[in-house]
Amino acid sequence: MSDCLFCKIVQGEIPSKKVYEDENVLGFHDISPNAKEHYLFISRDHSTNVNDMSERNPDSIVHVFNAIRKFTKESGLEESGFRVVTNTNRNSGQIVFHTHFHVLGGEPLKGFGA
Ligand code: 5GP
Ligand code: ZN
Repeated sequence: MSDCLFCKIVQGEIPSKKVYEDENVLGFHDISPNAKEHYLFISRDHSTNVNDMSERNPDSIVHVFNAIRKFTKESGLEESGFRVVTNTNRNSGQIVFHTHFHVLGGEPLKGFGA
């Protein structure tokens, strides 16, 4: 999608601080972190949210979670603990409509949704 911010990150048109990359998935620092460590994991394929992703390409969900699994294992977040969040549509506060999974950790996290 030519006007999608995260597709532009995938294409390298907008810079990002990458922490993980494979043929299907990209992981990078959130520009405005909500925790000491805050990353975004996305599929290179465009979809707008998890519902759309499940319909278009359910394998993408597995690819993203495998990537999160590898990254958290290698970075030590597995040991210390982390949270994965995906916002979907208006009431969630979703602002970027390219499916993304927030990975938060690096410190004790406040209550769910905080
Ligand atoms: P959501 O759509 O789930 O509410 O969150 C979108 C997330 O994308 C936010 O946490 C926001 O800080 C992050 N974000 C927005 N624009 C950029 C950007 O240009 N680069 C990066 N790395 N993150 C961004
Ligand atoms: Zn996109």
